[in-house]
Amino acid sequence: MERSILVIGAGVAGLAAAWSARRRGAQVTVISAGVGETALAGGAVDDVPWEQVERAARLLGGDLPAGDLAPAARQFAAELGLWDVPQGAAARIATVAGRIRPARGRDRALLDLGPLRRTRVLIPRAARGAWDADALAAALSDEPFARARGLRFLPIDAPVLRFDDERRIADGDLAARHDDPARLSWLLDRLHQALDAAGGAGAILLGPWLGARAPRAEALSARLGVPVGEALFGAGSPAGLRFEAARDALLAAIGATHRHGRVRAVSAVSAGGDGHVGPGDPGDGVLVHVDGEDVPLAADAVILAIGGLAGGGVAYAPPAHRAGPDLPARGAVPFALSIAAPVTLGDARGPLGVVSSMHGPELDVAAWPRGDRPGALEAVGVRCDGVRAAPGILAAGAAIAGRARTVLDAVTTGLRAGAEA
Ligand SMILES: Cc1cc2nc3c(=O)[nH]c(=O)nc-3n(C[C@H](O)[C@H](O)[C@H](O)COP(=O)(O)OP(=O)(O)OC[C@H]3O[C@@H](n4cnc5c(N)ncnc54)[C@H](O)[C@@H]3O)c2cc1C
Repeated sequence: MERSILVIGAGVAGLAAAWSARRRGAQVTVISAGVGETALAGGAVDDVPWEQVERAARLLGGDLPAGDLAPAARQFAAELGLWDVPQGAAARIATVAGRIRPARGRDRALLDLGPLRRTRVLIPRAARGAWDADALAAALSDEPFARARGLRFLPIDAPVLRFDDERRIADGDLAARHDDPARLSWLLDRLHQALDAAGGAGAILLGPWLGARAPRAEALSARLGVPVGEALFGAGSPAGLRFEAARDALLAAIGATHRHGRVRAVSAVSAGGDGHVGPGDPGDGVLVHVDGEDVPLAADAVILAIGGLAGGGVAYAPPAHRAGPDLPARGAVPFALSIAAPVTLGDARGPLGVVSSMHGPELDVAAWPRGDRPGALEAVGVRCDGVRAAPGILAAGAAIAGRARTVLDAVTTGLRAGAEA
């Protein structure tokens, strides 16, 4: 009989886990409460935090070679069809904040500046909040990478907005309009004219507007004969919509069931059927309790791919939150898993201790990364031995304590959890 695996969470870690478990013949159900970190991120695909890569490159005086993806991760990325993760070389992407930063890979809608040398990159002006082509061009031209490669960014007048409401609608709505082939052809004509007027260029950089159901930049570039792509937008970009569309297509293609629901609790059931699993007990299976449903879902194993603090898997719960009009009754661990489960929370150093302050940790000191020390907000998660959290319970992605909060790290642990479940 097929093993049954329940994956909680439909971010990139849950998707990788589902894909990997299906490849091994398991029957897979993915249950998710909605948007997590993957759907909020901008489309950069990193293995380690890019600031670390940048620091190391500066120290060594040149770009670092990018490590090859493991074969399973490469296969997964190919089937997802959303990213370009070049072998051997990192991509270079421009952010809307005016930085040029390395990335191990990118959503195919983002412009890769890596291959460009001694050329001009045109940035069309558009009357939209958060898009200032003049300021962006000045900031990007001043970046060390641009100066070293002889890249100049030029703001230009090109009518890339077609209708008046496009000055105000959300990036996702504007991106969705470019899913329409007729609208993409309209944009193509405008970019052709802009290129002619500017006397040619090496690339064109646009806002995060090039497709909501799929990245449209490559089709546009092929027809224009010049690379066109998006700048990276920090949080809430259409890259999240493109991920969700690619995810749903992949889950359907591999025959995994995908359903909506908020999981309240996970419990392991032992061979004795007494609902209690002791340490070392292999466990017989798990029960998953979903909000608003009386009958729990049963499976051979569950994978917690519920994200960290940003994705909803971990909640910030300092003792002060439980205080009434007076002081809290006692100090307490200031984080809680958002699901009741027989697992331990920790960070990179070990299990979490009770903080001495009634108000929780000093977030302004401990929350953010400093040097090589990860910030507390990012490091907290489920303590695991590899990806194993408890008998019958595995974890993947940003739900795991102390791992890098990146897309490719979530893929790595997702693939492993799916294989071991
Ligand atoms: C704004 C932002 C920018 C980022 N930028 C980058 C970047 O540039 N490069 C990079 O590599 N990484 C970036 N990251 C980090 C990266 O996106 C995450 O590390 C990765 O996507 C985590 O994936 P995940 O699947 O583990 O978690 P998530 O994507 O958070 O998925 C968690 C899933 O669990 C579900 N869930 C949670 N609780 C429950 C419950 N009780 N019941 C059912 N479902 C539940 C959620 O609905 C969601 O589907 C960024 C993250 C954010 C938030």
